Amino acid sequence: MLRLDSRGEDVRTLQENLTLLGYRPGRADGVFGEKTENAVILFQEAEGLYADGIAGPQTLQALDEALRDHVQEMQGLGDSAGESPDRLPFVRVPADKYRDGYDRFFLREDVAAAYQQVRDQVVEAGGRLTSSGARRSLNARVSPSRSATSFHYTGRALDLHVGSGMESPARDPYVITSDGERYWRVYARAEDGEAMELDALTYGSRKRPRKATGRFLDLTALFEQAGFARIRARKSFFDGGTWLGAEWWHFQYEKGLVPRVSTFGDELLRVYDMATLKDTPPWRFRDRVFGVNWG
Ligand SMILES: [Zn+2]
Repeated sequence: MLRLDSRGEDVRTLQENLTLLGYRPGRADGVFGEKTENAVILFQEAEGLYADGIAGPQTLQALDEALRDHVQEMQGLGDSAGESPDRLPFVRVPADKYRDGYDRFFLREDVAAAYQQVRDQVVEAGGRLTSSGARRSLNARVSPSRSATSFHYTGRALDLHVGSGMESPARDPYVITSDGERYWRVYARAEDGEAMELDALTYGSRKRPRKATGRFLDLTALFEQAGFARIRARKSFFDGGTWLGAEWWHFQYEKGLVPRVSTFGDELLRVYDMATLKDTPPWRFRDRVFGVNWG
């Protein structure tokens, strides 16, 4: 079993194999460090395995199979296909654990830098950034609340923890207010924030706000300054539908996208190679063009 701080020839082989598959475990030096652990987690997520960053028998077997497939794909595709020159890796960013949320998640490298900029400001002011995850596996099931062309597949979107707002405005890390037709403004509690009285909406009271007071940062504004946009609540949310339609927690990075020109497929190819994408559900929607209000 290979894990953080393992050393030796087996670790070197693991690193070489992960590199071949495009996972970037760092230099193949035989030392299992954090980069190698990140690569193992990403590989496990992609394969639908339990993502603990430990390379045990199951993970090593899946790795062998993935390598065999990879070699076959490469022979089939020839040497010109599959690799985009401006591919960006997924990198790990920190979050503040809240309930069953995460203390880290993965974003595309440039998106991670923009997120880190927001996080630094929030943490500096004594606030928190919670997480319900970000990157979605290419083989994740599609459902009414999980769009087939979600920004989550491309490493451009993140979700704050869905339980960290709209529950108890007097205590939650975030207070959510209405901000135009089905749009939200998210305020983060922070010791060094501005004293405010806010009209908080909750899952239990979706149309009639109640007052919440405290010191807050305008988190929506901080995300917007860093290139992230919010999305609207589903209509059903206000008509007695599931709370999952609220979407106040979702922020997506839209820098670099050209309306009616950029395609979902282009964005997938920024983070995955062709061999990985082929035959996955999202790849079927590769020709989808982004509109003005990305859907
Ligand atoms: Zn989301």
